[in-house]
Amino acid sequence: MPLADISGYLEVLDSVRGFSYLETARGVLRRGAAGCVSNPREKPGYVKALYVIGAVKIPVGEGCSYTLEELGVYDIGGAPDMVFSSPLDLFTRGKPTPLVRSRLQLPGGVRLWLKLEWYNPFSLSVKDRPAVEIVSRLSRRVEKGSLVGDATSSNFGIALSAVARLYGYKARVYLPGAAEDFGKTLPRLLGAEVIVDPEAPSTVHLLPRVMKDARSGGLVHVNQFYNDANFEAHMRGTAREIFVQSRRGGLRLKGVSGSLGTSGHMSAVAFYLQSVDPGVKAVLVQPAKDASIPGIRRVETGMLWINMLDIDYSLAEVTLEEAVEAMAEVARSDGLIIGPSGGAAVKALAKKAGEGELEPGDYVVVVPDTGFKYVNLVKQLL
Ligand code: PLP
Repeated sequence: MPLADISGYLEVLDSVRGFSYLETARGVLRRGAAGCVSNPREKPGYVKALYVIGAVKIPVGEGCSYTLEELGVYDIGGAPDMVFSSPLDLFTRGKPTPLVRSRLQLPGGVRLWLKLEWYNPFSLSVKDRPAVEIVSRLSRRVEKGSLVGDATSSNFGIALSAVARLYGYKARVYLPGAAEDFGKTLPRLLGAEVIVDPEAPSTVHLLPRVMKDARSGGLVHVNQFYNDANFEAHMRGTAREIFVQSRRGGLRLKGVSGSLGTSGHMSAVAFYLQSVDPGVKAVLVQPAKDASIPGIRRVETGMLWINMLDIDYSLAEVTLEEAVEAMAEVARSDGLIIGPSGGAAVKALAKKAGEGELEPGDYVVVVPDTGFKYVNLVKQLL
């Protein structure tokens, strides 16, 4: 049996330290194939590299090699009938999230595709993915009934509150005063405790308090900002889906665009796709100085993965007004109500296209959530 289920080897995941396994992952993606190993337990970095790119099989043996397709990397869909045995099954098999060709015209032959992350079931956002990966890994070592928590701008708090409960944990979320109402209210509906700090200028400013509560006992801090399960969830999920969807959909993928909070999802998307093809461009949104766009921040405010990993990217400055303007443009061309961080990413791509910096072809914008959550913000600017 040269192909074994990778699920039998996952206990090694947490023993792999550092990022060197990502070089192996990059090599496998670039070659489009992985060689066999005689004993995967002796090669934890290899197991992790294959797991993170989304392989469901691991090749065990000598002198053989298997393609990404044979390793199950292309198996991104699960439930054509849309019947699910549980809410977690809905998250896992209700995939991929849609990739839609937008009708919005951008200059220079740039064809826009939207990856709609509000199709995730718990927080209606991209943040379900790290919440499920983080909590499911935690469940291998943390007792049921424990209290888990984190600082969040809104979406991760909702995802964490939902997923923690499904795994038998209690949740507490910490938000800055400026967070949107949905982020402060919906975790309570999900049975979580909510702490709002009106003094905290942004989410990262809450971290010292969360860490203090973790040190003084009673709280397991899941730390979405530094927990590699965040980045890895997006490698296996968001990034792999874009890779497979663009191949199957016949796209000439030239680039991606998106926004940064923890930098988890866009670091993974850029790393994965540039591993397959180093020519893929990554355009990242930089909220203009003093602009406040929900869920995202400037790269110089300090982020782990985008700064640590070998990723080639360019930044485009976008104001809140421009982000909402792009929400309106997409709404009026496609009938789709995307959130402000998605609007900012569309605007960033449009700016680069307008400056003649992008070659013609297909570009994917990751839309982290839906505009339905931001009615109060939109009505002030429309
Ligand atoms: N957009 C929205 C609406 C978000 O809630 C977040 C994160 O919370 C992001 C973008 C940024 O995502 P990431 O933390 O993966 O960088």
